Amino acid sequence: MSDSLFADASRRLEQALKYVSLSEDTTERLKYPKSTLIVSIPVRMDNGSLRIFQGYRVRYDDTRGPTKGGIRYHPKVSLDEVQSLAFWMTFKCAVLNLPFGGAKGGITLNPKELSKMELERLSRGYIDAIADFIGPDVDIPAPDVYTNPMIMGWMADQYNIINRKLCPAVVTGKPVTIGGSLGRDTATAMGAFFVIETLLPKFDLVPQNTTVAVQGFGNAGAEIAELLSKAGYKVVAVSDSQGGIYAKKGLDIPSIRQFKESNRSIKAVYCEGSVCNIVEHEVLTNEELLALDVDVLVPAALENQITEANVHNIKAKFIFEVANGPTTSDADKILKAKGVNVIPDILVNAGGVTVSYFEWVQNRSGLYWTLEEVNQRLKLKMIEETEVIWKIAQELSISMRTAAYVHGLNRLGEAMNAKGTRDYYVNG
Ligand code: NAD
Repeated sequence: MSDSLFADASRRLEQALKYVSLSEDTTERLKYPKSTLIVSIPVRMDNGSLRIFQGYRVRYDDTRGPTKGGIRYHPKVSLDEVQSLAFWMTFKCAVLNLPFGGAKGGITLNPKELSKMELERLSRGYIDAIADFIGPDVDIPAPDVYTNPMIMGWMADQYNIINRKLCPAVVTGKPVTIGGSLGRDTATAMGAFFVIETLLPKFDLVPQNTTVAVQGFGNAGAEIAELLSKAGYKVVAVSDSQGGIYAKKGLDIPSIRQFKESNRSIKAVYCEGSVCNIVEHEVLTNEELLALDVDVLVPAALENQITEANVHNIKAKFIFEVANGPTTSDADKILKAKGVNVIPDILVNAGGVTVSYFEWVQNRSGLYWTLEEVNQRLKLKMIEETEVIWKIAQELSISMRTAAYVHGLNRLGEAMNAKGTRDYYVNG
């Protein structure tokens, strides 16, 4: 893939447009983000020096409601990446029928190089910089890669300080004690689990005979590995940024998670242990993990992991995209030709934003739900939309990815039409 991530992301839209009948207003609007903010965040470091960090917030489209999307802390964060993630969020919220548009934010940094106090100053500084751009009825941030509930807590608190009142619904993914929702920490993986459990039986796959490899062992990856393993799937490989481990008979996921947690020197904001440190398994690289001969491959790390360069090595029969954008559009075509079923990110990982929506609803109503209620509502939504997308894919003989875009586009188109289109003004 030689062009930008956003150009590649837009290609999915072009493919889906062939199967929907939309006003030209809709297609024109969806080509561009609504607004883009680039900020410089000055942070006083522990040694007294001043360091300036670059941050972004992109609001892609708000036709269906306030924009919603996570904040990423990563050395590779760029405007191109944030804009692509905001674009995907727009479709994800439409696919799940949430009353939200799409947004995303990020700061370019390696968060592991900062002390906790520097991280707090940076997170509060980011909110100082974007405060006029966000709000419970405007744009609602949430966690993403290398951000977590504590960081969301700092951000919500900073917004409250600026506004001189409590506005818990401005940020989701907060700690439960300050307005977070029960079940938000496990929601992305839980949502993905419901999608997997809805689709695999259609191919006569049962957990006991299904092997799984999971790339990425963070919030989403470690949890989906554990959920699948508890349900009887054989999770044979997992990895993090430092590499992976493999055991043909299946891995003991709870022990691996415990190991990662207990290897933190103190109860830190970031997990510092690596799954590679567990010795009783074969060690493998991330490239080797992606090429394993398993039934199900779950990319749960970052975008652009399955590309033209390595797609020919893929042997999995199903790919459930827990990460955002792990497969490039070129690789997608080759996977289709190879008969690999790719279940797209905008459906598979939508459990996170769905429970973020539940958190926003709870914050605004002041009535808090039990964990059972949250998980039950999540289950119903994930299964319902998975079945609809499956039906669209069967009826139109298209991939699950294109079907998901068709589904989202129909909802976005309907909302845009409701505000008036050329047909209304010229012909009607
Ligand atoms: P995280 O920071 O908790 O975990 C990321 C994991 O990926 C870490 O274990 C890291 O070591 C690993 N990793 C990084 N680079 C890697 C590489 N090259 N190979 C293998 N592993 C690598 O992040 P997360 O919240 O779990 O997010 C993971 C993905 O899921 C992202 O694409 C994110 O956008 C997506 N996602 C997350 C949520 C959520 O609620 N957390 C919701 C929707 C989508």
